Order: sequence, then C-alpha cells, then structure tokens
Amino acid sequence: MALPHCTDLQFRPALTQMKPYAPGEQPPPGKFIKLNTNENPFPPPPAVVRAITEAANGPLNRYPDPLATSFRRAAAEALGLPGPEWVLAGNGSDEILTLLVRGFVGESQSLRLPTPSYILYRTLADIQGAKWEQVAFTEDWQLPAEFRQPREDLRLVLLPNPNSPSGTVVPPSEIESIADSLTCPLVVDEAYADFAEENCLDLVQRHERILVTRTLSKSYALAGVRFGFLVAQPHVIAELTKIKDSYNCDAISIAAATAAMQSQTWLADVVTSVNCTRARLETELAGLGFDVVPSHANFVWCTHPSGEHRAIYEFLKANQILVRYMDFGDWGDGLRISVGTDDQIDACLLMIQRALAKLT
Ligand code: PMP
Repeated sequence: MALPHCTDLQFRPALTQMKPYAPGEQPPPGKFIKLNTNENPFPPPPAVVRAITEAANGPLNRYPDPLATSFRRAAAEALGLPGPEWVLAGNGSDEILTLLVRGFVGESQSLRLPTPSYILYRTLADIQGAKWEQVAFTEDWQLPAEFRQPREDLRLVLLPNPNSPSGTVVPPSEIESIADSLTCPLVVDEAYADFAEENCLDLVQRHERILVTRTLSKSYALAGVRFGFLVAQPHVIAELTKIKDSYNCDAISIAAATAAMQSQTWLADVVTSVNCTRARLETELAGLGFDVVPSHANFVWCTHPSGEHRAIYEFLKANQILVRYMDFGDWGDGLRISVGTDDQIDACLLMIQRALAKLT
C-alpha cells in the first residue's frame, strides 16, 4: 500500500533547510574489515560484559537512575575529579554535545568550530536554528588567531582535541589561553584523549568556561552501548541536567559504563597496544609515499601525492576493507584510517599497495 504523502505539515524552517549529518558507513558485522569510524578493534573489558549480564537480570521493569550516580562516582574516581557532581552522563557524547548546543546557543546566535573537524557541530547548530562559523586550521594543523576572537553573538566554541580527522592536538596551555581570550564557553571534545599524552581535565577545575566531553565509544570499546559524559564545574552540570531527558541513559548502559570506568588497567593495556599499531601504520603509509600527519588518536589521516583518495577508498571497499574517504571542499580530501588489530592493518596496507600499483 502506498503511504499518503502529506504536504501540509509545517516543520520548522530550520529543519526543512538542513542537510542531515551523515555518519560513517555501518554495514552488518562480518563482511568488512572495518576501519572507518574509529571504533576499538578489541572487545570491551570482561567486567563490562559481566555487568551487562547482571543488569539484564535486574529490575528492568523499573526506570533507571536518572542521574546515573554509580557511573558518575566511578568516573570521578577514575579521573581524579573532586566528586560525581562534576560529571554529566549522556547517551553517547553526541547527546552531550546536543545538550551543550541546546543549553548555550539560542536561535540566531552562533557557535564556532575549526575545519576540517567534526561536522556534527554544524548539524547541531542547524537543528537549533543557530549559525555556525568555521575557522580553518593552518596547513600544519595549528589554530589561527581568529579562533580565539571573542564576538558578541558567539555563544559556544567547539574544539575536538585530538582533532578528527587529523589526530593532531592543541596543547592544554594553548587551550587555556584560548579560553582566556573568549567570553563564551569552550568545549574541548576529548573523544580520543585517552590515546593522547595530555588532556584538559585539570583545566576544568580552574576554568568554569572550559567544558570537556568524553566518550566510551573509542578507548573503552563501547560504541554499541552509547555512553558519553561531560566534565565541568558543578553549577554547569546542574544547569545542563535541567534540559536532559529524564532517563537519558538506560540501566544496562549505566551498568556497562560504570564497570568500564573501573577497568583502568584494561584501558591502559589497550591504549598501549592501539598506539603501537598506530605507529607502525604511520611508518608503513609513509613508506608507500603518503603524507601522514602524526596522530595522537586511534586513527591516521593521510594524503597521497597522486590525489587518488576516492579511488583508493573504492578499491579497498571492493576488497572488503572500509576506511573513511573525506572531502573538505577547498581544503582538500584524504583518507582517515582507524587503527585496527595488527592483522587488519596488515591486510589494509597490502590492499593499499595493490591500489597504488593499479592507480598510479
Ligand atoms: N566527538 C568526536 C570528535 C567524534 O569523532 C565522535 C565520534 N563520531 C564523537 C564525538 C561522538 O562519539 P559518541 O557519540 O559515540 O560518544
């Protein structure tokens, strides 16, 4: 039966004009070596799997703890924060980013982001009916002075650190000085910070305008569970708590995320292993003639002098290997390759070699 097509619905103009955010391809498991969305190639900590089983046998007829207290306690303890009131839990860090935009940026006000970076920020501004302003990284992935210019209608500045797709970092001392120049909050999106040497958690305790977001999707290998969080001063957390859904995190996810935060030895081992494979991937890509940006995350951004990035992506895909082709218009395009297991990276490198032999 054909569905009726209704033309009378009055969606908000902000919605009818917007382009939806396009996440990376998520094929059914098994068909591809999947190196396109920066997931962890390893299974999550064993304690997480036990906690999920236990929670599944718990009182699922009851609503979960709206404040995810067990998780916030475990996160504060693991990260050396003064207490759980410094943490807000969310359904993935994407939900936390949504709350931040909803909480700080009104219709017709603006947010700022660097480019190339995480384009979801633009979509969140569009949904809100807000404006966004992009400031281009310099060629060597530094932030130009414009990024720290205050402006009256600017209500939020977002900075992924490490950045995606480059994997580059802005040191905490520079972040502090950017926050000092701005008059609005600076969100440091630390989705990949566990793979880096430094982070901005200490800065949060000194600066009410520095807000740090984290995810369990990458370093903790829990992309399928959907859990992220914000670290900010308690009054900021209290304000944003007012606008979250009552039960934004479910009981099974809260149990999983709590156990994950209590698995810090597991985390350290996995990060060491991923970073070791990343170093090998960088060296071997450079050996194949790629320009490789040294990464502080669980992926590598690379470009080839042939410019055949889309063709290399297509060739790999036809051979059951998925990497991310990214085109940033005037800025250029390239390939972002997530760090997989050593075997997966070997297979990917071999196929890139074959692609180059065919295409160049
Ligand atoms: N920030 C950045 C920079 C990301 O790359 C991602 C992953 N797409 C996220 C946030 C969102 O992570 P999640 O919603 O899975 O927590």
